[in-house]
This record gives sequence, C-alpha cells and structure tokens, in this order.
Amino acid sequence: MPQIARRSLAPLALIALLHGATAVAQQVAPPPSRPGVTPVAASDTTPAGRILREVHDHQHALADLEHLADGIGPRLTGSDRLLAAHAWAESTLVARGFTSVHREAYAFGPSWTRGVASARLLAPGAGTLSLAQMGWSPATAGPVRGDAMLVTARNDAEMQALFGTFRGRVLLFGDLPPLSGPGVDTAAAGALRAPLTRAMRDEGALAVLLPSGKETGLNMTGSPTWRRPLVPVVPVAFVETRDYERVHRALLRGERVPLELNLSGALSPAPVQAFNTVAELRGSERPDEVVVIGAHIDSWDLGTGATDNGTGVAAAMEALRAIQAAGLHPRRTVRVVLFSGEEQGLWGSKAYVAAHAAELDRIQAVLIDDLGTGRIRGWALQGREDVRPYVARAIAPLNDMGVRELPLERSSDSDHAPFVEAGVPAFFAVQDTVDYFSTTHHSQYDTFDHVRPADLLQGAGALAVTAWELANMPERLPHAPAVRKP
Ligand SMILES: [Zn+2]
Repeated sequence: MPQIARRSLAPLALIALLHGATAVAQQVAPPPSRPGVTPVAASDTTPAGRILREVHDHQHALADLEHLADGIGPRLTGSDRLLAAHAWAESTLVARGFTSVHREAYAFGPSWTRGVASARLLAPGAGTLSLAQMGWSPATAGPVRGDAMLVTARNDAEMQALFGTFRGRVLLFGDLPPLSGPGVDTAAAGALRAPLTRAMRDEGALAVLLPSGKETGLNMTGSPTWRRPLVPVVPVAFVETRDYERVHRALLRGERVPLELNLSGALSPAPVQAFNTVAELRGSERPDEVVVIGAHIDSWDLGTGATDNGTGVAAAMEALRAIQAAGLHPRRTVRVVLFSGEEQGLWGSKAYVAAHAAELDRIQAVLIDDLGTGRIRGWALQGREDVRPYVARAIAPLNDMGVRELPLERSSDSDHAPFVEAGVPAFFAVQDTVDYFSTTHHSQYDTFDHVRPADLLQGAGALAVTAWELANMPERLPHAPAVRKP
C-alpha cells in the first residue's frame, strides 16, 4: 500500500474498529447458516438430517481441499506429487478412524515430467506464444526453428498432395475432409488419414500446435498410450486461443510464419506403478455389499487440480467422515476409492474393476463426483431407467437442497464408465458447471480461488446422503448385462 494512504487511514481505522466491535458483538450469536448446506433443524433426527448437520457444523472438506491444491499441488499420475497426495489422504483417513485404509497398485507405464515450453513468433511481427506441451508427447531436440504450416485439404487429391511437404514444419490442422458424418465413407476417409498422420512423423515434422479450445487458458490431455490417432507422434503443444488464432490468420493470409519452439517434457526411463487409495466404513448387516463413492485424486499439472478433481476428492472424504461422525452405521459397506490415472484414460478405475471382478456383483452402486466445484443437482443414470425408483428414493431427503435431477444421460469420460461397462449400477453427479468448461478444466486456472465453498459442502452432503440411503435400502439395485467383461 502506498505511503500517503497511511495518513488517511486514521478515520478508516476507527470505522474498521467500530465495525470490528459490532462484528465481534455479532459473533456471540449462533454462526450464520452456511449457504449451500441447508442448516438442518436439531429436531430432524433422520439419518439425512444428522449427516447434513454434521457437514454444516464440522466440515473438513474446505481445509482438505486447500491442502490438496495449495499444499500438495498438481498431481500427475506417476509423479511424486501424486504419491504425496495418496500418502496424505491415507494418513488423514486413518486419523479419522477408517478401517482398511490401503493402496491398490496397478501397472501404469512410463511417467512423464513437464519441462519448459516456449514458443517465439519470428514473423510477421514478433512475440511469444502461450503454450503447454501435451502430456506424454515427445520433446523437441532443444530449441528448434521451422515455418508453420496449415495442414488443410478439401478432398483426397489435395490430401495426396500433402505427402512430402512436412519436413521441418510446425503443423496446425486446418480443414480436412471429414472422417464421419452423413455420406462419408468412414473407412475410406480413415484409410487416407492414417498414412498422412504417419507421414507427418516420418518426414520429420518439428511439432504440432493444437488450439486450447477455450476462451481463456490452456488445455491438456495425453497418456502413455497415444490416444489421438490423427495426431502424429511428434512434439505436440496446446496454444492459448488468442495466440493460436494469430498464427492461423497469418497462414490464411498466405504469409510465411517462422517459429522457434522448445518443448522439453520427458518420459521416465522405466514404467512405473500407479495406485488407487481405498478406505471404508464397514457395513453392519451386509458388509460384503458395497456402495462406492469415487473421485480421481490425480490431476493435470498446469494448475493445482483444485476443481479437477480436488473438489471430488474433498467431497468424497467428507461424505465418509460425516456419515461416521453422525454416529451412523450403514447396513452395507460404504467405500471411498480415490482413483488415479483418470486423466490418462480411466486407468485407475479400469484397474479397479479388473482387480475386483470377483466382487462386482456385490456392488450396490457407484457414485462418481467429477464435474468441478458446482452444486450437485442429481445423478446421471447412464441409461438405466430400471434403477430410477431406487435412486429417486435415495435422493428424496435432498430434494429441498436442489438434488432432484435423474437424467438417463450416458457419458464415458470419467470413472463410472468401467463400472457401467461391467453392468454395475454406476452414476455420475450432475452438477452446476460454473466456470469448469470455460476456464478451469485442465487449465492453469484450475486453482483454489475458483472453488465455491458453499457448493463444495452441498456436494459433500448430497454424496453422503445418497450413499447412506443406497447402503441402507432393503433392495439391491439390479445389475445390467456387462458390455465389456472385466
Ligand atoms: Zn476430472
């Protein structure tokens, strides 16, 4: 604060002091109700009421999340930071009195460590580009220089003409004949695209630049197994939209665009193991039947993984804590699984389903929380109309908190998917998206300041009560035929 202000502070300080006094006076009154988790009257002694009151009065979720995001930080699968997060979660769950807290290992492949990423636009004009190397993509051989090139073709003949043009170029993808859609021969279209993609690598393209696809911020993806068949196995980077558009416009104007790039992320010399963290509240009557509360503890590494998926981890841990702290003993076991490898393609949940194949038929339901900081509004039933009555009953105590939606919507981009494929009733939390897709998802803005405390607590309460009700209902939820055998 500049010096002069200090002098004029006197009257302000006085006002603040007065304000403080009244605020202190105010604090002797009961704490104001915490928005998000509807304060539950003490007279409501239902299990749901007791759980929600426990979250409202004694929640740990916010401090847990702040530690996970700010204290531990980005948690790439295979990294030391993620191992530190597993250790923290496990020691915290043990300290909170949960039994059978353990780690389950699975083979992951090489880990990847982000290095430097820099790009200079040498012409037209000059400048630096904001970019980040795609995870697990090869590094450049130090700083490299090459002209940018828009890979564009309206038809097969023009695509044929691209062969032999990639050496030493930095590629941006323009319009290429569609691979699918009305009237498109997918096989024929794919047949030409695959050799073209190989030619990009074999001819020695320097790198590929991809748009981040967001108004602001970067994006990220990548995996030990190359999951983007139309992107050559060369150094790849996501570029912020404003910078990507600048290069793209210059290429559309037909100008020469020399770039200098340096991407130095590296693979580990040997494959590593990855882990899922597990903790449970053992069932009192049917301990072998299980309700799983799941969230992935790994994250991308441009931000601190606060909303993807620190919020899910904190809500899952708080849900288990609140059920126990409310003095409740579920009839079936309630188990929290903090998966890893989610961002690389659901590796942890796939490994969990394979490792637990023998007990899948005893899973009552799986609840996955992985859509950022927003309030939970319901559960996506993954096409299972037949289980709607059970889930509707489970969320009935939460209807007043805005948890009412049970869309049939199917999705395959989070940890519920391997369970659904195995026929297990698995549901994905429907949440307010807030700024998840526009800003935080996989970007450098995925930080604690984007967390909405009230929504996080509402989510923890919703997760806990849904799990409790499913763990205690007399009926078993029917399983569906497995699409893919584990
Ligand atoms: Zn996620």
